[in-house]
Amino acid sequence: GSVFASLVQAPEDPILGVTVAYNKDPSPNKLNLGVGAYRTEEGKPLVLDVVRRAEQLLVNDQSRVKEYLPIVGLADFNKLSAKLIFGADSPAIQANRVATVQCLSGTGSLRVGAEFLARHYHQLTIYIPQPTWGNHPKVFTLAGLSVKTYRYYDPATRGLNFQGLLEDLGAATSGAIVLLHACAHNPTGVDPTLEQWEQIRQLMRSKGLLPFFDSAYQVVALVVWWITGGQIENMLGFASGSLDADAQPVRMFVADGGECLAAQSYAKNMGLYGERVGALSIVCKTADVASKVESQLKLVIRPMYSNPPIHGASIVATILKDSKMYDEWTVELKAMADRIISMRKQLFDALSARGTPGDWSHIIKQIGMFTFTGLNGEQVAFMTKEYHIYMTSDGRISMAGLSSKTVPHLADAIHAAVT
Ligand code: PLP
Repeated sequence: GSVFASLVQAPEDPILGVTVAYNKDPSPNKLNLGVGAYRTEEGKPLVLDVVRRAEQLLVNDQSRVKEYLPIVGLADFNKLSAKLIFGADSPAIQANRVATVQCLSGTGSLRVGAEFLARHYHQLTIYIPQPTWGNHPKVFTLAGLSVKTYRYYDPATRGLNFQGLLEDLGAATSGAIVLLHACAHNPTGVDPTLEQWEQIRQLMRSKGLLPFFDSAYQVVALVVWWITGGQIENMLGFASGSLDADAQPVRMFVADGGECLAAQSYAKNMGLYGERVGALSIVCKTADVASKVESQLKLVIRPMYSNPPIHGASIVATILKDSKMYDEWTVELKAMADRIISMRKQLFDALSARGTPGDWSHIIKQIGMFTFTGLNGEQVAFMTKEYHIYMTSDGRISMAGLSSKTVPHLADAIHAAVT
């Protein structure tokens, strides 16, 4: 018999397993709203034009070789990534207080950051929001951290449980790590306001809590906000929808001179999902500490995967360092955001037209790719069985997976599920 004969069959991943189930369904009306990947109105994956052009430039450049990157990845990419999240004029960057390493997308950046903390930080407890992205507890636990939660979402208001959040962080062990979604919280689409962020910052700094930002949706979230006529102008005090603004909470924590970690992903905002491009930055108090931190990050990375892949990071660096390509990127992002917002409006209108009981305004209020519908596991199971609509059991739907053609089908299903 096999030496592995005693293994039990592991369950599918709760998020990726949705697609596995979807693929098995022969129905022509089936709809996959489980994945967090952008789709066109025709339901097709999208490669940005600016990404195609960057790839052409890379392919045509005969001087490019396939040598190993350094352990920390592509130097240009790391500099540009830090600038994107902390701002071009960030004092921390200018003072060389930021250690940035290229990692395997957002997940890999979180994992490397967590392994580093498990080895070198004095507090092994990390607080994550309730709810959060399903992979967070697993990444942090396997890295050797001990995971606790803080209240975040209030199902009654379908908004932020700010009081609960302040109470839980206020009661947290001093020095503990706190995972914060930089923007477009997944799965709820609910973010604190900048005023609330400021209160969170003051509380965390007063208790010596260490912020670990997960930034999987930078720029995407802001564009959505900006074109919904959101509060961005009031909040930030300037007239143009600067694409930098949705990294603002991160920058508030950097501006106070304190330390923090940030994991960035280019999966959603450049559509580079499968290229696995991301960065981990650790902002330190001094350049000397940052240099030591980087040296220790190398010791985490080297035995894990030695060094990161070159192609995706080269695409990102090509786009970010060319102002014309950067602008084209933001225009394409705006088109993606426009479509997501239009889907939010269409779904909200379709439910209104059906007289579906309940308040559905959260569909147009929530930020980012997902709507946290408030549908429960039973209702989700009903929609999958009767309408062949696939989504995670927490009722999260990806607005990017919808189209004008499929909105009525989804609205019928939601209507039937709640009546
Ligand atoms: N963090 C959050 C909140 C996410 O939603 C995701 C992806 O869905 C990730 C991190 C990691 O994504 P990736 O590893 O593909 O960059």
